[in-house]
Amino acid sequence: MSSAVGRPDPMAFLDDEVAGLRERHLYRALRIMSSAQGPIVSVDNRRLVSLSSNDYLGLTHHPRLRAAVLQAVDDRGVGSGAVRTIAGTMSMHEELERELAEFKGTPAVLTFQSGFTANTGVIPTVTGETDLIVSDALNHASIIDGMRLSKAPREIYPHADVIALREILERARRDGRAGGGEHRLILVVTDGVFSMDGDIAPLPGIVEAAEAFGAAVMVDDAHASGVLGRDGRGTVDHFGLHGRVAIQVGTLSKAVGSLGGYVAGSLALREILTQRARPFLFSTSQPPAVVAACREALRVMQEEPELQAQLWANTRYFKAELQRLGFDTGHSETPITPVMMGDPATAGRFSDRLIDEGVFAQPVVFPTVAIDKSRLRTIVTAAHGDKQLDFALSAFDRVGNELGLITG
Ligand code: PMP
Repeated sequence: MSSAVGRPDPMAFLDDEVAGLRERHLYRALRIMSSAQGPIVSVDNRRLVSLSSNDYLGLTHHPRLRAAVLQAVDDRGVGSGAVRTIAGTMSMHEELERELAEFKGTPAVLTFQSGFTANTGVIPTVTGETDLIVSDALNHASIIDGMRLSKAPREIYPHADVIALREILERARRDGRAGGGEHRLILVVTDGVFSMDGDIAPLPGIVEAAEAFGAAVMVDDAHASGVLGRDGRGTVDHFGLHGRVAIQVGTLSKAVGSLGGYVAGSLALREILTQRARPFLFSTSQPPAVVAACREALRVMQEEPELQAQLWANTRYFKAELQRLGFDTGHSETPITPVMMGDPATAGRFSDRLIDEGVFAQPVVFPTVAIDKSRLRTIVTAAHGDKQLDFALSAFDRVGNELGLITG
């Protein structure tokens, strides 16, 4: 293709790439929402029951968060104006970190602009070429990118396979003693809840294996924050492993309802991150409205435990009903319930038909999941009412029968 002035366009290959994605049913059009987030959303001018957000506790539109944000804008304006190390550390950033540390039961917390940047910040900061990272095969993209930014070699263990993890740790120790050089740090990294399957990491087994071989554990609790543990403290609290997980990453962008991420751990961990973590050093800090929303969310999570209870009641109901209708929902144990479709074309068609029926459930296809493991990913929230869940279930039933997906 030529540009307007007749020169060949050096970026023309992008058109071919996009066309290729469309041909393979891997192109994902952005659905445009013209309402607030919530159990009912307006998408492409239609009102739909949404099963697509990570708004587990319904906090994206909670009145207390809205009020806190308006107050913060009044008091502190709309931007922090600088990176944290220059002039971008406001007292509210430090207060949020103190409150998060108390909530998580760790000596210290450092916040980041997102869960993604928390992972890409912490992993290369704490690991180097003399270390080893051992990672679950299904860990989130931000963990993978964090490992890519590290000079440390890495080993991948099959998903949730603690026996394979032990073998890797044992081999690393043997090789080290045989002259390969002992590692300064072996860091075992896992998602707490796996974001595409909704299963919970076997954290007790992972921690025991790590302790047996002198390794440290890092857990990314993006989908466990607000969902698992007391008032949503995450997987470490859920399994009673306080003090045995060196690094806990959390997000403020899902159940907490706003935007951001954090690393919870020791004081030394926080200190080194403030000196070395590149997203912290080179990207502007969260604006006052976002910090205020996160702080109020933490209070709501602790003062309104009925939200977490409702989330789990809705989860149990929706998952059991999908299974009763005959859908394959994989190995989910949490509010993330995949509905397995197989090939990407079926996943796309199912999702489109659900929209006709008034339900918003997005397909997840390659490269997010393996090409033959395409699925619709559903998440129910505390804000969904019974009527909305029943409406969605009857749409799944109709479309499942129509597309021959119901096997039960
Ligand atoms: N880790 C996991 C496991 C996630 O699922 C996500 C979000 N999809 C993130 C990290 C990134 O969090 P954030 O949206 O706050 O960047």
